[in-house]
Amino acid sequence: MAKDNLTAVLHGIEDLRLEQRPIPTISDDEVLIAMDSVGICGSDVHYMTHGRIGHFVLTKPMIIGHESAGVVAKVGSKVKHLAVGDRVAIEPGVPCSKCELCKQGKYNLCADMVFCATPPYDGNLTRYYKQAANFCYKLPDHVTMEEAALLEPLSVGVHACRRANVGLGSKVLILGAGPIGLVTLISAQFLGATEILITDLVQDRLDVAKELGATHTLLLNREDSAEAVAERIRQTMSEEPDRAIDCCGAESSTRQAIFATRSGGVVVIVGMGAAEVKIPLFNALAREVDIRGVFRYCNDYPGALALVASGKINVKRLVTHHFDITETAKAFETARYGLGGAIKVMIHVQPRDTNN
Ligand code: NAD
Ligand code: ZN
Repeated sequence: MAKDNLTAVLHGIEDLRLEQRPIPTISDDEVLIAMDSVGICGSDVHYMTHGRIGHFVLTKPMIIGHESAGVVAKVGSKVKHLAVGDRVAIEPGVPCSKCELCKQGKYNLCADMVFCATPPYDGNLTRYYKQAANFCYKLPDHVTMEEAALLEPLSVGVHACRRANVGLGSKVLILGAGPIGLVTLISAQFLGATEILITDLVQDRLDVAKELGATHTLLLNREDSAEAVAERIRQTMSEEPDRAIDCCGAESSTRQAIFATRSGGVVVIVGMGAAEVKIPLFNALAREVDIRGVFRYCNDYPGALALVASGKINVKRLVTHHFDITETAKAFETARYGLGGAIKVMIHVQPRDTNN
């Protein structure tokens, strides 16, 4: 076991530092994890550049990172399903498990959620992290640490598709081909969607979407009107999409999603944009298009893991760059500016493939 606990700590806007932190001590129902791989999420970059997301405000130094996997290094006395040496994916949010929403099985909405790298709670871009054991998922031998870290965004995609009731024969419109749009694409295919059109403003991202199985891609310009885009979508697909999943967070994409969706269909909003936006509400209500939100995921890690373990999806295609934890600043710069066509940037706390 390494003695040091090198950790990436966000002290404030544009102030991300590597420093030593004490190795955490665990309680009876926790495990200590020797971290292996941690992906950089758009939210990590946003905290670095803006110091806040909505009402989550950075008021004290916070360890960054939450898309992660590692190896169990210590086990609390009450933990039954994990042992030292187990390779695990880490679900980063631990709800209270006592409130009405938790009891109803909507734990992602728990007001007392302790979520990794969401102020005031620390994340896990660190050598040692402790986590509630029942939010750690033991990996089959053939699932890699990088794939395990990618279960976090993949779970968002699975949850979004479940919220949209994507099923056999669904015709799905996905707006935005960033990491979240791409994991939503992967999830939609395996939940049975037979036609998937994905949009973006960047051709390179659409090329990756095509490689991952999108049946249609549509390159948009910022100036395109939402009605005109909806018409192009209808013309490109065999019929109007019955589900639209907005993975951009732009007002324009939400408007396009509503106009394009078939009457009686569903629009799911994953992208987090401005607090208030202008949308064609009358159009939606008069055609009974349901508009639903998505917040993270809930009971979706097992499905996401099963999907990856099946070997039928190539979630690793999202990872374009690799850095060691000592190169965290460079890794964040790459993610922030999309350098070198970056989609998902992976930080390795252990040398790459050590634990595969
Ligand atoms: P990203 O910025 O990497 O990707 C967004 C993509 O959308 C980019 O490729 C961009 O070119 C494209 N885009 C922007 N405007 C567009 C438009 N008008 N039409 C078509 N494409 C457009 O971000 P990401 O990591 O993929 O995340 C996507 C969104 O999902 C973000 O807003 C993020 O905050 C949000 N998110 C929400 C949740 C949740 O729980 N609801 C979880 C994770 C991420
Ligand atoms: Zn709760």
